[in-house]
Amino acid sequence: MQRIGIYGGTFNPPHLGHLRAAAYGVKALELTRLLMIPSCVSPHKQHLPEGSATARQRLEMLKIALKDEEKIRVSDLELNRGGESYTWETVQQLKKIYPMAELILFMGTDMFLSFDSWKKPEVIMENASIGVFYRGLPGEMENIVAQKIRLESQGAKVYLIHNPLTVISSTDLRRLLVFQCADSFLPEGVGDYIRENHLYGTGRSYRQLPMEELEKTVVGLLKPSRVAHVLGCRDTARQLAEIWGADPVDAARAGLLHDITKALDGPLQLTLCQGYGTMLDAFSQENPKTLHALTGSLVAERIFGENPAVVRAIRSHTTGMPHMNTLDKIIYVADYMEPNRDFPGVEELRHLAVTDLDGALRRGLEMTISVLQQEGKTVSPESAQTLAWLNEQK
Ligand code: FE
Ligand code: FE
Repeated sequence: MQRIGIYGGTFNPPHLGHLRAAAYGVKALELTRLLMIPSCVSPHKQHLPEGSATARQRLEMLKIALKDEEKIRVSDLELNRGGESYTWETVQQLKKIYPMAELILFMGTDMFLSFDSWKKPEVIMENASIGVFYRGLPGEMENIVAQKIRLESQGAKVYLIHNPLTVISSTDLRRLLVFQCADSFLPEGVGDYIRENHLYGTGRSYRQLPMEELEKTVVGLLKPSRVAHVLGCRDTARQLAEIWGADPVDAARAGLLHDITKALDGPLQLTLCQGYGTMLDAFSQENPKTLHALTGSLVAERIFGENPAVVRAIRSHTTGMPHMNTLDKIIYVADYMEPNRDFPGVEELRHLAVTDLDGALRRGLEMTISVLQQEGKTVSPESAQTLAWLNEQK
């Protein structure tokens, strides 16, 4: 019997994670063919991010991505149907086209666990088997197996496919596109297509943006949960600059940009360093999560064309740095005590910030070092050096 895989999604944009999962599905279930079906407007993602590709462009990119694949094809079934794409309709339509084949609908863990909240799950189960890609994360397996047993008792057929390959989310990929470091995650030709068509904010300059536009761009690249912190840091940095005689515009820009790469996890931090050709010390290689200060400064310099004072202040905002100047200290301190921060001792830090900037910096470094030591984590050599330097200045 023919086995035909169905792999739907927004594919906004299609990336190597999609392609590898598709190839893996073909192999694991010995499929005759796999159809990748870009959705018209996914009911799960109705608000597409700004600069997104049109439906036709997503289809075009998939065609480019799959040009050398034998068993994997693009299907424009959902785009031609128009309107919102519902899986039950797609599955029913495909069953009419391939009445003798076993259809297997692929999905990730999250979708599988929320399968009951889809529209007409019974129609889907009647016409297709389900193929679940799971990552093998701790705690994941129990829920998946329970759901498999439950759905099978309702007549479904479920295949579990272990797909441990590192993937990237389309959201992170769009961030990397702006940072000009996305190519290693894109199928050949797709990156060029994106740039030629100015998709996802590519093909434009971000250098020296006016303040308002800079804010809009930064907010679009942050995780939503980090926006308040960053805006708070910008406002606080500007106020501290007025008090301590630094440039308030530089302070505001550094405050806005200081966590610009923070959304990216450790491996993606390393991707940025690689992309910008930066050599790393041993501490950073072992603690890639602390790298967002370095990668943030690189992005501020190369993508946003910020001046050396702004770049340097971002560079030192997490660990500090010996010979910090007033702006560097302001960004470090503002990041620590901006109005959204809440921890024991923050009030003392707020008081010091406006009365004794060096004292605030020292207090911040001491707190960071003691927390790391309590948690049994390695203290960055730069923090220890900064504190020693600061104490010499006394
Ligand atoms: Fe930070
Ligand atoms: Fe921060």
